[in-house]
Order: sequence, then C-alpha cells, then structure tokens
Amino acid sequence: MAITPGSIGIVWFRRDLRLADNPALRVAARAHDLVVPVFVHDSVLAAHAGANRTAYLHATLDALDADLGGLLVERAGDPAAVVASLAAEVEAPTVYVAEDFGPYGRRRDDEVEVRLLADGRALRRVGSPYAVAPGSVFTKSGSPFKVFTPFARAWREHGWILPLESVPTASFVGGLAGGGRPPTPEPEARGPMPPAGERAAHDAADAFLDGLVGGYRDGRDRPDHDRTSRLSPHLKFGTVHPRQLLARLSDEPGPSTFATELAWREFYADVLYHSPETVRRNVNASLGGLVWDTGSLADDRFDAWCQGRTGYPIVDAGMRQLLDEGWMHNRVRMIAASFLVKDLHLDWRRGAAWFLRHLYDGDLASNTHGWQWTAGTGTDAAPFFRVFNPTTQGLRFDPDGDYVRRYVPELRAMEGSAVHEPWKLAGDLFGAPADGYPPPIVDHAAERAETLARYQQR
Ligand SMILES: Cc1cc2nc3c(=O)[nH]c(=O)nc-3n(C[C@H](O)[C@H](O)[C@H](O)COP(=O)(O)OP(=O)(O)OC[C@H]3O[C@@H](n4cnc5c(N)ncnc54)[C@H](O)[C@@H]3O)c2cc1C
Repeated sequence: MAITPGSIGIVWFRRDLRLADNPALRVAARAHDLVVPVFVHDSVLAAHAGANRTAYLHATLDALDADLGGLLVERAGDPAAVVASLAAEVEAPTVYVAEDFGPYGRRRDDEVEVRLLADGRALRRVGSPYAVAPGSVFTKSGSPFKVFTPFARAWREHGWILPLESVPTASFVGGLAGGGRPPTPEPEARGPMPPAGERAAHDAADAFLDGLVGGYRDGRDRPDHDRTSRLSPHLKFGTVHPRQLLARLSDEPGPSTFATELAWREFYADVLYHSPETVRRNVNASLGGLVWDTGSLADDRFDAWCQGRTGYPIVDAGMRQLLDEGWMHNRVRMIAASFLVKDLHLDWRRGAAWFLRHLYDGDLASNTHGWQWTAGTGTDAAPFFRVFNPTTQGLRFDPDGDYVRRYVPELRAMEGSAVHEPWKLAGDLFGAPADGYPPPIVDHAAERAETLARYQQR
C-alpha cells in the first residue's frame, strides 16, 4: 500500500495488545493524522517463549488485527532494524511505545532509540504495563523496596491514573508488505487455549469482578474450587491493564485482596527492574553456597517432577495441570516449586525454566521471583528452612481431594482426602498405591532433614 507522506506516527505494540486505555496509542492519535500499528516478531524473545505462549501471542495478535480492521503490520527480525526501516518507509518522525522495564526490553529499546535518533527520529515511551511503573516508589531512605508489605503500602499511596475511557479515534493505516509472522506452533498444552484478545479479557474480568471476587480472600487458596480470575495471560500480554481492574475494586475484603495480588505483580517487576541479575542469581546472596543435586539421578527426578510422576499427589496434579492447561493454580505453583527445591534438592532455575516454557502467563519477573520466594532465596522470602509438607498442604487446600482426582486419573477410585496419602493403601511409603500411579520418589521427612542440613552447611 502506498502511503502519502503527512503526519504519520507509528505505534509499536509489545505487551500492550489492546486499544482501550492505551496511553501510547492515545498520544500518537492526538499528535498525528495517521497511525501505523506494528508488531515485531523478535526471535530472541520467541526462543524463550515456548509453543503455548507463542501460539497464544499469535491468537492475541489476530484479535488485535481484527479490532484494527485488518491493519496491523507484522514484521519479523531485529527490532532495531525493523522499526527503523519501517519509520523510514512511512516517513514517521516518532515511534510510540509503552515502556518495557524488563532487562532485555530495556536494552532493546535503547538500541532502537539510537537507530531512530541517527535518522533524526524519536522513540517516545508513554505508559507501561503496570499501574505504578517500576522504579517509581522507594523506601524513606531512598532505596528500592526489598519487602512486599511496605512496598504495597507505598504503591497504594503513590496511586495511579484512572483508565482512559474511550478508544482513541485514530485513523490507522497498515497492510504494508514484507516480513510477516513466523509459523504458529501447535500448543504443547493438550487442553483448549485460553480465550485471547481484548474482548475476551474484558469478558473474563466482568465474569470475575461481578461474581467470584466477593469470595476471593478465602477462595483464592483453594485449587479445588478454582476461584481466581485467570486473568494472568491477559495481564501478561496487556489485553487488559491492571489500572482497568483496580478502578473497579472496592475496599471490601475480596476486592482489596485482589488488589494486593496485583501489587505482587508490580512488586516483582520493581525488584527485577532494580536487580536484573536476579533472573539468574539468588536475591539472598548468603544462600549462594547451597549445593544442588546434579547427575543422572537428579535428572531422573527432574523428569518425574516435570511429568507429574513424583508419587506426591498434589505435586503431580499441579504439574499435570501445567502440561494439560499451560496454567497452574498459585497455591499449587508454590507447593510444586517447594517440592523441587526442598524435597528433590534441585536448582530453582531448572524449575523456573520449565514453568516459563509451559505457562501461558509465563512472565520473567513474576516467575523468577515466585520461584525465589518459594525457594527461600528471594526478596521477602519464606525462610529457606521453612519446608512445605506436600501432604499437609494437599489435605489443607484440597481437603476433599477433588483437585487431585481431576488431574490424576490413576487415583480417581480413591475417595475424599485419602488421595493425598495413597501409600496408606499400599501399607508402605514405597509400595505402589494404585494401578499405574508411582510410589513416592523420595521420603519427605528424610529430604526435609537433608534440606536443613544443607542450609546449615552452606
Ligand atoms: C513458582 C511460581 C511461579 C509463578 N510464575 C508466574 C508467571 O510466570 N506469570 C504470572 O503471571 N504469575 C506467576 N506466578 C504468580 C501466580 O501464581 C499467578 O499470577 C496466578 O496463579 C495467575 O492466576 P490468576 O490470574 O487466576 O490469579 P489471581 O489470583 O486471579 O490474581 C490476579 C492477578 O494478580 C497477579 N498475581 C497474583 N498472584 C501473584 C503472585 N504471587 N505473584 C505475582 N503476581 C501475582 C497476576 O497478574 C494475576 O493474574 C507464579 C507464582 C509462583 C509461586
């Protein structure tokens, strides 16, 4: 399509794949007669995404493209080269983005900015995927927060703007030739992909905020009842902005607990912003000397954990939910992560990478710090020596065993909470409890003692 030069701005979409309440889009639409909407497929990011998340991204882009009347420009390649050449092609003086605060995104955007500046153009950062942008709140002494509760207090005090009400009336142009989208992979998850796109995000938000949120404070910890919002993939890709959710929350216990969970997402983004090295390194440096198991037995145990065959039913149910749905309930994420670190003595980074490969909502900040929190190596963490007992956790948070039976068919014949201790049926911890279901691969009591010993010796 030939574009007549005029006042043209580019909106480069990344993790903000929506039209409503999109500050970068609004500023571009006000400043220019025409707006070119673009998404750049970046192989560096795709390499870490896994088939589930890539397929979900593509479905989200389909929805955005439909909302844009088929005008979304998709190109593939090095963002610095692609964005600079598109800007030259359409003679756009300015490219608008929502600011990315992740370690890779910041580097990438700096490179894009340098390329654009060299051509006399500008990169303008407007808004971010957070209600309060990372790097905005500090302790009284001016340092970044390391503990969640005071962060959440400062975060609420800082506050956020109300969502922008209307979709900006931009005149979009697009349909430009070239580049395009890489092939869409088949999701690894066996179950249906979560609904994608801005409309689906608002449907999910309405369903949750008009109903379940009332009982969220007590219901959120019960994987058997499934009473959380399932908005995480939408928050990940920005088909809904947290501001749009926060504006609808009252001070009642359920809604205010939900706001606190959104604050955890913002806290972890803030931590990662200030300490990008914590993607690999323990936040708590004093735990740097911990010894992790390696070798073939460790690899076998890791495989058993990945496939949901550890013999600990709540762990296995969670890991199979991840394989089936590309999502796992938060309580079970904690139990399964704790099991990998404290019962199998495997490095949390191995588990974090497996989660990132499979989760539709896989997010570097929330995943890394969810893992470090559970492993006890992180900011504000549960102390390393506090070890979750997977059986007690199962009995407490899935008291009737319904969650386990949903994902572990071998145990479906067992009634009630008995599913959490199948070895009782076998009469011995390492006896095979049910057809096809494995006996426990380790003895929790012995591994707990081992964890405490390693903690002392580090
Ligand atoms: C080991 C581990 C790994 C995790 N990895 C991720 C990840 O890759 N991506 C991700 O979005 N969340 C991650 N979480 C956080 C949490 O488990 C998910 O956000 C939540 O289960 C998503 O389901 P939901 O949307 O129904 O949550 P809801 O309970 O409805 O919460 C609403 C939103 O608040 C945010 N939120 C809730 N709890 C947390 C939390 N503990 N930390 C950060 N944000 C939170 C999420 O954006 C979530 O969508 C992880 C947690 C643990 C313990």
